[in-house]
Amino acid sequence: MARIIDGKQIAAQVRSEVAAAVKELAPRGIVPGLTVVRVGDDPASAVYVRGKRKDSEEVGFRSVEHHLPATASQDELMALVRRLNADPTVHGILVQLPLPKGLDERAVLEAIDPRKDADGFHPYNVGALSIGLPAPRPCTPAGVMRLLREAGCDPKGKRAIVIGRSNIVGKPMAMMLLEAHATVTIAHSRTADLAGEVGRADVVVAAIGKAELVRGAWVKPGAVVIDVGMNRLDGGKLVGDVEYAAAAERAAAITPVPGGVGPMTRAMLLVNTLELARAAAR
Ligand code: NAP
Repeated sequence: MARIIDGKQIAAQVRSEVAAAVKELAPRGIVPGLTVVRVGDDPASAVYVRGKRKDSEEVGFRSVEHHLPATASQDELMALVRRLNADPTVHGILVQLPLPKGLDERAVLEAIDPRKDADGFHPYNVGALSIGLPAPRPCTPAGVMRLLREAGCDPKGKRAIVIGRSNIVGKPMAMMLLEAHATVTIAHSRTADLAGEVGRADVVVAAIGKAELVRGAWVKPGAVVIDVGMNRLDGGKLVGDVEYAAAAERAAAITPVPGGVGPMTRAMLLVNTLELARAAAR
């Protein structure tokens, strides 16, 4: 049976590392500041933002939320981002997505100063990742890299498959595995033989959004399996993109859903903000 990679426990470890680093910065008068911008009243966004603020406060960040009404104009939102860009107490800016209809998400993300881009979604930082420059990395794939490290899995020389090619997970995940010297395959909805591709991989990262699409029997014995997917079944149960029980019988290590990648995404936002605050102080 596979070893279970405990994302909750590793995320708690990351949070305590960040809290310790915040204490070290305090004598220099530096308090890392994360500002979250939320527009409208999407209930899921409200829950996510609450969680991010709670984490920020717990590690000792200055945590601020700007909540604009759903009727806010593009100009108002852009003006707020510009103000935050100019505010030296703000080290990380996060605009919670999705934005209400009618607002141009791309323009807002591009307006964020790349040096304050807590999510690592600005095109400059996407480019920085692909040419290997230090920059904030998107939180979910950064969390996966930390999970692999904690699981004792060095991707160097291994065959890795990333299933999914979204801008927030799949593509940056593939770049980070490449940076770590894996031989990377990116699979997507048009991949001809997904079972065969998965069967060759030593490291499997599933980021699809389809419940248990990756069958346990596809997994190469001894592979490390990271399940990014979060799918709510009709009965309310949360499952990943991997058929967990069957995959766990073949894998060397596997992340559960929930309690695997999810907590790491939140924790890596703190790491990004801390790094942005450190960079601003240099
Ligand atoms: P997304 O933007 O919908 O992308 C899904 C990707 O899966 C696409 O690239 C798509 O291929 C591919 N795909 C769809 N059906 C496929 C199939 N049958 N075979 C192979 N590939 C297929 O999703 P996302 O934002 O990356 O999120 C993926 C999952 O991760 C979701 O369940 C989401 O909830 C979860 N997630 C979790 C966290 C976390 O913190 N745990 C964070 C972010 C996302 P095409 O490009 O060809 O359409």
